[in-house]
Amino acid sequence: MVQTWHIGVDDTDSQNGMCTTYLATLIVDFLLKFPVKFLDFPKLIRLNPNIPYKTRGNGAVAITFSTTEEIDEKIWKGIVEIVEKNAEIKDPKTDPGLVFLQGEVPSGFHKLYHQALYRVVSLETVKQLLKKQPTEKHFYLKKGRGLIGAAAAVGATLVNDYTYEFIAYRDPNQKKSERLIDPTSVINADKNVPLTFNNYDYENKQIMITPHGPDPVFCGIRGESCNAVIRMWELIKIFEPIISTMIFRTNQHTQVHFPKIFLGHEISPYLSVTVKGIVEKKPRDHPGGHVIFTIRSENSLIDCAAYEPTKQFRKIIRELIEEDEVLVFGGVRPASEKNPITINLEEIQITKLTPIKQRITPKCPICRASLTSSGRNQGLKCKKCSYISTKKEFSYKQISRKIRTGVRYVIPVCAQRHLTKPVSRIVPLQFHLSPEIDIQQAFYAFLERRILFTTNTKNKK
Ligand SMILES: [Zn+2]
Repeated sequence: MVQTWHIGVDDTDSQNGMCTTYLATLIVDFLLKFPVKFLDFPKLIRLNPNIPYKTRGNGAVAITFSTTEEIDEKIWKGIVEIVEKNAEIKDPKTDPGLVFLQGEVPSGFHKLYHQALYRVVSLETVKQLLKKQPTEKHFYLKKGRGLIGAAAAVGATLVNDYTYEFIAYRDPNQKKSERLIDPTSVINADKNVPLTFNNYDYENKQIMITPHGPDPVFCGIRGESCNAVIRMWELIKIFEPIISTMIFRTNQHTQVHFPKIFLGHEISPYLSVTVKGIVEKKPRDHPGGHVIFTIRSENSLIDCAAYEPTKQFRKIIRELIEEDEVLVFGGVRPASEKNPITINLEEIQITKLTPIKQRITPKCPICRASLTSSGRNQGLKCKKCSYISTKKEFSYKQISRKIRTGVRYVIPVCAQRHLTKPVSRIVPLQFHLSPEIDIQQAFYAFLERRILFTTNTKNKK
């Protein structure tokens, strides 16, 4: 009998190394030794980026495969061993979790995924959910907070919008922050493979595919199709050994962490929110380069911040004036001693612009000089030719605003989070809904070519 299995893994990395995607790659390599059939690419699932105990990009991985054999202890033990051996458990913030589930994914897991995208989910809730599954096995180390992401990743559905990421890995013992890559080749490849995105930040002149931490990720290439990300990898020039590669299907850059519009009183710390409001206090520049304004949503006043790293985005924010109607997207920061609860902006849309009117001083009908007021409750006079008008009538002209309605103003690529949808992702949804590829077939096609992507063969000169 064919059995389907789902594996979820999360929270194995730290500031000092590892990456849950690399650990998932080791699990895929391990499973390839057994008579299993992968049903999909491994899925890289990003969850609420505002979770306080997550220091890096809150990402979990799910792997789905089928097998005709009873899953034996060898597979289960082997995967547990990979987690034990590779997770950065010395880090006090790393609490690995591993979930193993057979059969159709119960609706409780899908619900958990949707909650974990924008809220804080308790470990207790997840433990309760796991308890209810007769076919479930799980494993964790330390506090096991990773079970939250692991179970949520198993419940993730990538049906409408999704993207791909091609990740190339270097030796995990390699801890230096520098990645040896030819920047010009990245820019050229970016221009040649339009179905990839966020390769390079043209505004801030930064390569975006290479991280800067001590982790095993050499680079990650993001795109709309697996062929596009592979093509991009083939075009870039690199100068250090690559030990392995993997392609993930992912919810990155799909904006799924903003599922609904919140009202002012519903906002609480660490949520990812969309709020409709009216600008109550115009933008103020704060020390450190941060720009903050206040919106009113129902009876609540909420500060919204474009912090210094959002660079050019702050120019847009400074154009806001009182009474503008806006839709803000961002993560909620709790109140501190100095500051009230604040939305850390990722995007803003202006739904209604307040007109700015400027008074036009009438001209003297005789000499064309500008007329001036003769005083309160009196008419106008011309200082040049002494013409006097008893009427005081001004006309107004509307000043055009530099910002527009109907535009998504998004923070620049260099400041974006994994789930932020870049403006450049204008590929229509149909692209993903069309039978462009059989996903399972595409994954096996990748596995077949995979050996070609390690450095021994890439860029051989
Ligand atoms: Zn005059």
